[in-house]
Amino acid sequence: MTHRSGFVALVGRPNAGKSSLLNRLVDAKVAIVSDKPSTTRHAVRGILTLPDAQIVFVDTPGLHKPANALGRRLNDVAREALSDVDEAVFVLDAAVRVGEGDRFIARALASAGTPVLCVVTKADLVLPPRLLAQIEVARGLGPWVDVLTTSSLRATGFRDLVTALVAGLPEGPAYYPPEAVSDQPLAQAAAERIREKALGLLSEEVPHSVAVVVDEIADGDTPGVRLVSASVYVERESQKGILIGKGGRTLKEIGTLARPDLEELLGSKVFLDLRVRVSPNWPRREDRLERFGY
Ligand code: GDP
Repeated sequence: MTHRSGFVALVGRPNAGKSSLLNRLVDAKVAIVSDKPSTTRHAVRGILTLPDAQIVFVDTPGLHKPANALGRRLNDVAREALSDVDEAVFVLDAAVRVGEGDRFIARALASAGTPVLCVVTKADLVLPPRLLAQIEVARGLGPWVDVLTTSSLRATGFRDLVTALVAGLPEGPAYYPPEAVSDQPLAQAAAERIREKALGLLSEEVPHSVAVVVDEIADGDTPGVRLVSASVYVERESQKGILIGKGGRTLKEIGTLARPDLEELLGSKVFLDLRVRVSPNWPRREDRLERFGY
């Protein structure tokens, strides 16, 4: 089966219905990932993983009719960002007359060279003749791949929209692991991988005392490298020594083994900052268990 994947920007005037559309698109299957993958300059808003495709929805800096040079400069940034995604969805409100703001965005989209699906949303707010008229107006705004209609309120039109979006994506593997679309946050998935490596290196008695918490996943100082800061918790000072190892050897090895896994998980190079902390008796303390994700 062919697998497709890529980045999709949702653009449109404020209030056009973008957020509602996104919420419907990713349904309950979303985990909002606040960190940017290195492959894009956009913040990820939501991920839709299907058996044969993964769509990563991203934010674009706002496109507005420029009032001055700064406005024009910001629009240049937005246009550049648009040319970096695989597809854009141009969101229009079915119940609001198309205005200069929409036309401005339409021109920017048309000039970015990215394929655009135009979506007339809030279809539930108007009667069919008016919806058809709005679709005609939408068609006249630019060279869209297609013009579709949706209602986020009634959840209609989404199957066709998703089909059209997938058809427009390039072939490629998923950018995010399937757990990114379950309820498991990325940090927890990362912690689990580190713990697995730590356990593999330790003898009998220590493992039950090891918990891993990923404190932060952030963009590092080097472009394309993400910083993962994690704490490995043990119960006793003596275990801390075992985990760190002679001259820090064991801890270093845990990091060396975990890093490739984390890179696969996050889809970017990783700088892993690991530290060992003692949390006395943590397996018997409710508050600790909660913090450690048990
Ligand atoms: P955004 O600013 O483009 O993200 O727009 P929002 O998604 O926040 O929507 C703006 C307003 O329109 C909100 O009050 C939504 O509840 C409403 N809205 C969005 N989509 C629909 C829809 O399909 N039908 C109806 N009736 N209202 C909608």
